[in-house]
Amino acid sequence: MIQTSKLIAGNWKMNGLGASLAEVAALRAALAEAAPTCRVALCPPATLVERMARAAGDGVEIGGQDCRAETHGAFTGDISAAMLKDAGATLVILGHSERRQGHGETDALVASKAEAALAAGLAPIICVGETLEQREAGRAVEVVRSQIMASLPLALAGRDFAVAYEPVWAIGTGLTPTLEQIEEVHRAVRAAMIERLGLGVAATPILYGGSVKPDNAREILAVPEVGGALVGGASLKAADFLGIIRGAQ
Ligand code: PEP
Repeated sequence: MIQTSKLIAGNWKMNGLGASLAEVAALRAALAEAAPTCRVALCPPATLVERMARAAGDGVEIGGQDCRAETHGAFTGDISAAMLKDAGATLVILGHSERRQGHGETDALVASKAEAALAAGLAPIICVGETLEQREAGRAVEVVRSQIMASLPLALAGRDFAVAYEPVWAIGTGLTPTLEQIEEVHRAVRAAMIERLGLGVAATPILYGGSVKPDNAREILAVPEVGGALVGGASLKAADFLGIIRGAQ
């Protein structure tokens, strides 16, 4: 990951079939014209990684949405980092709140997965974020700091990766924190990253995620310490995703 330009990454979650590749073709054509200065990535379901890597061309990086910490073995239904890499992925989302909550993933497991991703040559995008209850209790910064300290393995120092701050209550809800709240947490994330990994991560991208849309992308992406966006619903349609990419220019 280039660490000075913004990274706009789409998370398709469990959405998309072969027919959805038409959206990728439309995005590729539009990006060829728009020539964005930011990095663009799409993370489809594992079944689409290889086809999407072919359809996307050079202008769009492709990522997985999770990987197993182990390299191989008797883990029915799971996928390894090397398998994603082999299919054409260059990055992988790890520790998304839907996996932390729905699959019981702990900070320690996320850190192991990040080590596996690095070993396979993938750049991890490590997600952190507080629940509504934690925010209302005034604990957002404390929770996120603790997730950073425990989910980021020391092996990340000097490597390509990103952190995504995704308040759980903002994901898929249409709700977003205020710009001041985003800045406050992003500054805390940066401080915790530096404490954990040293000054080498002073420019590593910290993405904001949670109900980013074309109409709020520009103002969110202009907040200090926001180094890009992790986008769910609005990454499924090329036109919406392009609107967000334009907000990074
Ligand atoms: C996400 O799930 O990573 C996400 C940010 O979703 P949405 O943009 O739909 O809120």
